[in-house]
Amino acid sequence: MSTTDSSPPATGSAVLTGTPVVPGAAVGPVVRPAGAVQLPDGRPATVPEAGRAAEKDRFGAAAERVAERLTARAAAATGVSAEVLSTTAGIARDRALRTTAEQRIDEGVPAAVAAVTAAQQFMDMFASLGGLMAERVPDVRDVRDRIVAELTGQGEPGVPAPDQPSVLLADDLAPADTAGLDPSRILALATRLGGTTSHTAIIARQLGLPCVVGVGGLDQVPAGATVLVDGEQGTVTVDPDADEARSRVEGARRAAEALASYAGPGRTRDGSVVQILANVQDGAGARAAAIAYAEGVGLFRTELAFLGRAQEPSVEEQAAGYAEVLAAFPGRKVVVRTLDAGSDKPLAFATPPDEANPALGVRGLRVARRDPGLLERQLDAVAEAAARTGSTPWVMAPMVATVPEAAGFAAAVRARGLVPGVMVEVPSAALHAERLLAHVDFLSIGTNDLSQYALAADRLSADLAELTDPWQPALLELVAITAAAGRRAGKPVGVCGEAAADPLLGCVLVGLGITSLSCATSAVARVGARLATVDLEACERAAAAALATDGPQAARAAARALLG
Ligand code: PEP
Ligand code: MG
Repeated sequence: MSTTDSSPPATGSAVLTGTPVVPGAAVGPVVRPAGAVQLPDGRPATVPEAGRAAEKDRFGAAAERVAERLTARAAAATGVSAEVLSTTAGIARDRALRTTAEQRIDEGVPAAVAAVTAAQQFMDMFASLGGLMAERVPDVRDVRDRIVAELTGQGEPGVPAPDQPSVLLADDLAPADTAGLDPSRILALATRLGGTTSHTAIIARQLGLPCVVGVGGLDQVPAGATVLVDGEQGTVTVDPDADEARSRVEGARRAAEALASYAGPGRTRDGSVVQILANVQDGAGARAAAIAYAEGVGLFRTELAFLGRAQEPSVEEQAAGYAEVLAAFPGRKVVVRTLDAGSDKPLAFATPPDEANPALGVRGLRVARRDPGLLERQLDAVAEAAARTGSTPWVMAPMVATVPEAAGFAAAVRARGLVPGVMVEVPSAALHAERLLAHVDFLSIGTNDLSQYALAADRLSADLAELTDPWQPALLELVAITAAAGRRAGKPVGVCGEAAADPLLGCVLVGLGITSLSCATSAVARVGARLATVDLEACERAAAAALATDGPQAARAAARALLG
């Protein structure tokens, strides 16, 4: 049984880890799907010719009963669940499947064997087609088992309806099993297989059932155990401490309530204002962010619209695109980042093709060293978009490393009536934050790159993910230095890297003195709702505790202990 020491303590309990899919927590006795249907072995033809018509009718009637049951469940379900159940019913009624089975029966094969061979033919075909067709294979297998169970008098396969509310543990679930779950009897589910886009995950999301997939060791959880599934942390705790389980379930319930009612603006429970902003890349994204209660845009990644382009877009084309984003937030804060070309985001018209080490090469603001006109024209386009929409965007440069770079950029931005700032993505910028603030009006910390450069670890390397973990105490120290400089200067310092999308880390960043958090639109409500549950002083204590640790797991644990 695999356990982890990074999970919250569970006295004497094994903690299994997997991929969290649907947040929420629930505790209950284990229930498992009924055992596998016994499939008939491939016996030779045994049905005499005179009995074959009746055998075909038996197959047809069994398939129809399976289809009827699934159709009735589809009628009682909604959304994706109803679709999955109807699709599975459709397979049971499929003409081609039936004809193929009847051909086998015509050769003297018993109906149950014919069901297996016919289904196998379709599963092989779908698997060889790949993609979406391959995703049909589990549905066909499920229909096969149901028809065989019907023909051979075995109980219906799938999930039993437990007498008391229970937690479902399974290797994997057939789509129709998941779709047919009754949330009043099944409180949560965890599977050993499956990923975040599996049917199990999609339907669990729709049913709002806490769910963790890909859980190692799940098959060894004994029958009769009680388990706590935590869909936020991705853990399954076997025989948890009763008090801990109660408090985790209650905490998850409160978090869900807060999330459902979040409508901004961002603030801590005791009223400290922290803007919750969105990271966007175009007008459509900005409009979606506005609907999701983002208070503005904290990072508009302008380069993303031009990734495949061979030529620099005209000022007119740029202005039209930028105006769309500004128009989504009239009178609100929108931070436009100038082209961050290079490294992981090369632009054909801006990035030198032959750099030995692009992450340390001519990227971000450094592109203007080779081609100052590119930056000038982009700033003209932003100014034009501002004039068209009657707004005053903030404009920041990526990959700033020195004070003269910040000063030159600020002058060019101010000359156009815009508000200048720079990103803090290089340790030298964090160390000289106060000097940078003598020239610009705000700073925005890009923790993705700042961790890459502070820990000397490629942000794209899966092998080094622990080093680029945004909870690394050394990274938090650089954030603290930058935020403190902002406080002294009386100027805002935000975070717009992935760190800001982690609700617990968001609270820690606020405790370090950060004044705005900008994250993917999908994270806005979670970050804002979490912040609303804590006081500023608790955030400050959690920040100090995280800074005092020697690693990301310890930093997380220290913050969690103080923030709940
Ligand atoms: C960052 O580096 O944290 C950041 C926000 O910029 P990007 O991810 O676009 O490099
Ligand atoms: Mg960056």
